[in-house]
Amino acid sequence: MPRLADWTQASGLPRLDAQVLVSAVLGWSRAQQLAHPEYALRGTDLERLDALAARLRAGEPLAYVLGEREFYGLMFRVTPDVLIPRPDTELLVELALQKLDALPPPSTPRVLDVGTGSGAIAVALAHARARTEVWALDASASALAVAQANAWRLLSPQRAAGAIRFVQSDWFSALRHDSNAAPRFDCIVSNPPYVAQHDPHLPALRHEPALALTGQRPSADGLDDIRHIIAQAADFLHDSGWLLLEHGFDQADAVRALLTVHGWRAVFSARDLAGIERISGGQCPHPRQMQSPRKIARSTSNRKRSHVQRAGTD
Ligand code: GLN
Repeated sequence: MPRLADWTQASGLPRLDAQVLVSAVLGWSRAQQLAHPEYALRGTDLERLDALAARLRAGEPLAYVLGEREFYGLMFRVTPDVLIPRPDTELLVELALQKLDALPPPSTPRVLDVGTGSGAIAVALAHARARTEVWALDASASALAVAQANAWRLLSPQRAAGAIRFVQSDWFSALRHDSNAAPRFDCIVSNPPYVAQHDPHLPALRHEPALALTGQRPSADGLDDIRHIIAQAADFLHDSGWLLLEHGFDQADAVRALLTVHGWRAVFSARDLAGIERISGGQCPHPRQMQSPRKIARSTSNRKRSHVQRAGTD
């Protein structure tokens, strides 16, 4: 029966990781652990600790080993079916809240999260603004199950705008097929797959779902899904609606260029806490109601041109 201090020492893990595992299994704070180094570990506690430590030593991320990760002040369940929520993505939530808060009252803001994964963004938005109607889409049924479980756990059943609408959909395809069902949104947000096919960071991310990192069809520059979203999103937005996208540390210029080519207005990028341009966005390109026939003709030919351009760079 090892003493707590000896187990921590012998675990082969950084001290903090070992202490986090002990907290998860015994429910003891780090201060309690330090105060009782002589505590004898036994039985199922010891078995669980050894099993969790072995997974960490094998390189599995702590969030999967613990089955949870904090995001935007909420504790999310995570499984290997979903990307582990990153602090960088909290900026996307902040920016979406700013856009939703700027809408004229008394509207019920509507936001759509495409590629929701664990549901971190959708649930954080729904949690922060009770009156906002939130839809969340994902191509993966198992990811949607995780997202739905998080919504059940973290949102109060009394939320004014009801539960989040979860829809299995490869990007916007389900909304397109049943266009009566989907309203137009005030804001579309996404943390899509954006890691390039041969990115040197991929081996370090091997435990996370490839679908969430490189996407269904991995691309040389990692931008294929972002191109797709930028080309489609306007069909699901109000005329003044916003599209906000997370992207890689070196992709801001390319994403702004794509938005501009597709006619998005007020295109911008925002920096995360590390000072990296991490989110880019813009406002819906074609104000349908207010367009004169000449403008419509012009924007249609623009769209054709940009489509050709896109086909060339895909
Ligand atoms: N931010 C993740 C990483 O690079 C990637 C997430 C994504 O592709 N959406 O580790």
